[in-house]
Amino acid sequence: MTLNLYDTMSRAKRPFAPKDPGRVTLYVCGPTVYNYAHIGNFRPVVVFDLLFRVLRDLYGADAVLYAANVTDVDDKINRKAAEEGVPIATISGRYLDAYNADAAALGALPPTFQPRVTETMDAIVKMIGDLVGQNAAYPAEGHVLFDTQAFADYGKLSGRPMDEMIAGARVEVAPYKRHPADFVLWKPSKPGEPVWESPWGPGRPGWHIECTAMIEAVLGLPIDIHGGGIDLVFPHHENELAQGVCAGHGRDYAHVWMHNGFLNMSDEKMSKSVGNVALAHDLLGEYPGEAIRWALLAGHYRQPLEWTGELIGQAKSALDRLYRALDDSGRFLAGAPTSARASGGEHRGGVMAYDAVQAALQDDLNTPLAFAGLFQLSDHLRSAIMGKDVAGVERCRALLLEAAQLMGFLTADPGAWFQGGADDDLKAKVEALIAERLTARAEKNWPEADRIRDALVALNVEVMDGPTGATWRIKEQA
Ligand code: AMP
Ligand code: ZN
Repeated sequence: MTLNLYDTMSRAKRPFAPKDPGRVTLYVCGPTVYNYAHIGNFRPVVVFDLLFRVLRDLYGADAVLYAANVTDVDDKINRKAAEEGVPIATISGRYLDAYNADAAALGALPPTFQPRVTETMDAIVKMIGDLVGQNAAYPAEGHVLFDTQAFADYGKLSGRPMDEMIAGARVEVAPYKRHPADFVLWKPSKPGEPVWESPWGPGRPGWHIECTAMIEAVLGLPIDIHGGGIDLVFPHHENELAQGVCAGHGRDYAHVWMHNGFLNMSDEKMSKSVGNVALAHDLLGEYPGEAIRWALLAGHYRQPLEWTGELIGQAKSALDRLYRALDDSGRFLAGAPTSARASGGEHRGGVMAYDAVQAALQDDLNTPLAFAGLFQLSDHLRSAIMGKDVAGVERCRALLLEAAQLMGFLTADPGAWFQGGADDDLKAKVEALIAERLTARAEKNWPEADRIRDALVALNVEVMDGPTGATWRIKEQA
């Protein structure tokens, strides 16, 4: 199988071939940390985490280097710090911690590197100096600007003609700009704003140069894959590319450009400025992280995805179905005679479904198709349980776990998953009723045992008696 990825630059799906299979590099533009991030901001996090996992599976965990940056100096951070009367690091630290906690709850592995702008300032200043030295940038009135006329391929990534780029960039045409599309690499700080020294005067960097310098600093250029949301193609990635190529004497910048589609709410891009946002932090208080992750992967990553309560409900039911198969098969195996176990037999249908999951993921991360493969695997598992095929259950269960965990699912214990919907009060009540039922049965007090069973049914709880005692779970919704 070959991993095929859609490349925004060539506008085609292409076989992925890293420059060095022993050192595969991936960079994704991360958040500006000044507030809790909305769930749309986590679409790239989850999509590129899935890619990170697939790459690790293919090339080895240590062979894949994933950098996701953090913008920790910005007008919005400055404003918030001024409002609260605290240093910018207090604001960025607080919201970076929240962001990382939310990402982890959504099943995202920590990236190999999480560079921050404030910690990469030397590399940023150096790269601006290189661009000036190459005549690709020029200082003017305390600013340094990138000279878009110095890069013949400017506009190639987004495919936009120059006049459209000027309008699209909504750049303020300052008198010191040689060309209206030229963009800022360095600018003076306003009074009270954080400031760094540079050969062009004290100030701070523009947004685009940060990423290019961070990539050079942590991964080295060129990289294999550069990712981000579709809104970043222009101007951000177009400008990153221009800087990277010009600073490096014309070398490549990124071999594959990948962009996720928007997460919409009420048919419009979820965004703070529109106000149609759902915070990941709030959603995670209501739903398990895996259910939100599933919802974010329910559509193909390049397509827009409409965020609705229904979508999360469906995601939760889909996972319930898989966890139920896992739970039932675990109980089945616990009760199976050991002599029938670990026969090492193959299960053709199970292996085909497992391969279908892998093939779907390697076809430009086709998650809807991969989910269908997981359901096929759980159906094979169910059939094996029904047929009392111990070896088949063992094999299909292992395949289901492996395929689902590759995607960041089925990481919880099934018992904890189903009891996760119960609050502590309910858990205590159920545990007490189960203990009373055990006593009633030991005393052969059948009317009392029946009464307790009815009380459990009324609580929507299903009790399963097994060889190691009784376990319980919240019943499937009709
Ligand atoms: P920002 O903090 O707005 O720069 O966004 C951080 C990342 O989230 C970028 O890769 C954006 O492209 C992405 N992003 C922001 N809003 C959405 C959305 N509604 N849907 C999908 N991706 C988004
Ligand atoms: Zn970037």
